[in-house]
Parts: sequence; C-alpha cells; structure tokens
Amino acid sequence: MSRYESCLVLNAGSSSLKFSVLRRVEATDDLQQVLSGQIAGIGTDATFEAKDANRRVVAERRWNAEDSQRRGALLEYLLAWLGQALPEDRIVAAGHRVVHGGRAFSRPVRVTPAVLSALEALVPLAPLHQPHNLAPMRALAASHPDLPQIACFDTAFHADLPWVASSYALPQELADEGVQRYGFHGLSYEYVSQHLAALRPELANQRIVICHLGNGSSLAAVHAGRGVDTTMGFTALDGVPMGTRCGAIDPGVLLYLMREKGMGAAELEDLLYRRSGLLGVSGLSNDMRALQESSDPAAQRAVELFCFRVAKEVAALAGSMGGIDALVFTAGIGENSPGVRAAVCERLRWMGVAIDDYANSRRALEISADDSILPVFVLPTNEEKMIALHTLAVLAAGAPHGREADEGLTCSTARTPATC
Ligand code: ADP
Repeated sequence: MSRYESCLVLNAGSSSLKFSVLRRVEATDDLQQVLSGQIAGIGTDATFEAKDANRRVVAERRWNAEDSQRRGALLEYLLAWLGQALPEDRIVAAGHRVVHGGRAFSRPVRVTPAVLSALEALVPLAPLHQPHNLAPMRALAASHPDLPQIACFDTAFHADLPWVASSYALPQELADEGVQRYGFHGLSYEYVSQHLAALRPELANQRIVICHLGNGSSLAAVHAGRGVDTTMGFTALDGVPMGTRCGAIDPGVLLYLMREKGMGAAELEDLLYRRSGLLGVSGLSNDMRALQESSDPAAQRAVELFCFRVAKEVAALAGSMGGIDALVFTAGIGENSPGVRAAVCERLRWMGVAIDDYANSRRALEISADDSILPVFVLPTNEEKMIALHTLAVLAAGAPHGREADEGLTCSTARTPATC
C-alpha cells in the first residue's frame, strides 16, 4: 500500500527531460521534493541522473546512440525507475511545464485531447519549446491513460498584463491574430512573489521587481502579486541578454541582416537564439560563472553588458508601476552571483539602492544595507514546486469526492497566495 501521494513534475526540452517528484507532507499540507534529475542528451547520447532530496546522486545510466532516440522508451524507463525507487509513493498526477498558453490558457489546465490540440496550435509561437513540452503529454496519455496530467504555463502569470504592457505598436490585425507581448518565466515569478509575501506580509500588496536571471533571463513587475509588466514579449528572445540569446534588439538589425547578408529565418533563429547573448559577446562561454572567473576582457564586457541591461530594465519596470517597493533576485545567476547582484545594484544607487556587501556575499535573504531606501532580496525560485501545487490543486478541484478536495491545498488555480 502506498504511504504517500506524490506528484511527478516534467519539464521537457529539445534534448532533455527534467523531472522532480514532490510528496505531500500530511502534517503540514506542504510539498517536499524527494527526487529530481534529468535524462539529458536525448536524440544523441542519452544519460540519466537522479538525485535525492540532499542533492546526492542516487542513480545514473547511459544509452547507446540508437536507444537515445527512442523518446517514448526513455520516458517509460523513467516511470519504471521511479516506481522502483519510491515503492511507498503513489504518483497521483503529472504536472508539465508548458512554455506557451497563448491567450486561451491563463491558468493551469487538465490535459485532454482538446487541450492538446489547442496547445499544438500554439507551436508557431514557441517553435523551439512547445513541441517538446507536448511530446511527453502525448506519450503519457497513450501509455498511462488513467494518470491525470496537468499543463502549467510560463505565460499564465502575465495573462492580465494591462493592454499597454501587452501590446506592440503594430497594425491591429496582427494583434488580432495573437502577435502581442506574452511574457515568460511566470511559474518562477508566481513562486517568488508568493514566497516573498509569505516571508514579508507587509510587501504583499506592494510593487516588486523580480529579476529571474538564469540561462534564460527576464524581469517582471509585480504589483500586489499580479504581473503588470515584463521584459520578454511575443517570444522568450526579448528583454535582457541571456546565455546565448540576444535579448531586445532593434528590428532594423534583422532587416539589415536579411537584406545585406541574405539571412533567412533559420539562420537568424540560430544567430539570435544560440550564438548571441553572453556567448556572442564574450566569444567564450554562455556560462556566467565561467565568464566571471575569466580575466579575458571580452568576458568582462559580456558580464558588464548583462548587468547594464538588467539595471536598465529594473528602472523601466519601476517606471511601469509608478514606483518600486522591493527588488528581488532569483534563478541561477540571481541566486548565486554576488558580483552580478552588486554590479546591478551599483547602477541603481540613484534609486536609493544600497547593498550590504557581507550579506550579499553570504546570500542572505535580505541583502540591502540598513540605509537602503529599497529593500533587496535573494529568493531561490522553485518552479517545480509551483507546478506541483497547481497540479494537485487542479486535481482537487476536479475531484469533489476525493481526499484532495477535503484537504484544501493552499494553492488554488486562481491566483490566491500559496504558502510555497
Ligand atoms: P536555466 O535558465 O537553464 O534554468 P539556471 O537558472 O540554472 O538556468 O542558471 C544558469 C546560470 O547560472 C549559468 O549562467 C550559471 O553560470 C549561473 N550560475 C550558477 N552558479 C553561479 C555562480 N556561483 N556564480 C555565477 N553564476 C552562476
């Protein structure tokens, strides 16, 4: 008999399938991550690695080139392995990270054939991510038809952006067909803003700028827990420079490249998504840590450009809200790079931002100096937990006679604060 109810969270990319299992802790009604890991190198040289709650590697495996291409079989391997590794757990649902919900999906939704078709129609809006997000849903629906699946969207948090923040100054007919600013990293913003509100209730209704700085980076303006502006737009290419993505760029550059260099869509896509950003500027690496450790002037330039653009966007988003009451750093760079945080904050000194070097170097929760006008926080993001909370909440909402309905999760599919 299963002792625990757990949720499987899947985040599928072009060559990787990241997974986490979060177990419901009865006493606290909280969720605890018990396993996480990924199958990497899918399509070429697939490897499997799983870690326990203490980040200790508990399983590894490698496949040959032929087996590495069998995506369905790799997913089945994962499920079978989880069954063995967690004999006391019953996986009650799978929650999927889906990059694009378009206009139709402004909250997590149970996956049905109709939902899958609607999500399929959004592939042109996110061709590099959406097809991979959907593939395991289809595979699981075929192999485990009784397992409820819930899709959670990176765009959903931004679904209520004011029209001035969601619109491009383009002819209306383009807006009518969906060419608008959507924003991404929403699951991270949702988690971080709720977590901050839980830790500092006095900030719950205030104006916060959250800097999600990772391999993919964006910033969001959050007022009273709701997204009101963000740096990414129609695609995840806009905004600040990223590991290999250029961020905002004058569209005239693209016209120049098309006209003068004869570049087509595929070539431009490769340039803008895979050869730009930190990698393009430095010519060395897309990895912030490697660049910060390098003494190469090109590496330093890439870091400086990144910090300049992040600081500029903080100010722009504060402008969108008519002010700012707190600044938050999160994700790989935001959580782990005191140097980036210090450089960004230094550029925001005019706004009254001052950080405490010791607190910053130790990654304290609050890194602002006592005399800082603006409080500055570092909060680890946890998109997996947000997905699991949503997944179980959708399940509970759809299961009026189930135990879930009675237990009343703290996170609902509507935007009520959750204790994350
Ligand atoms: P993803 O968008 O793929 O989820 P992450 O949020 O994991 O990315 O962030 C990855 C980035 O975080 C990389 O650029 C990496 O160099 C950076 N990073 C991780 N640890 C550190 C560190 N200690 N110092 C500077 N950068 C770091």
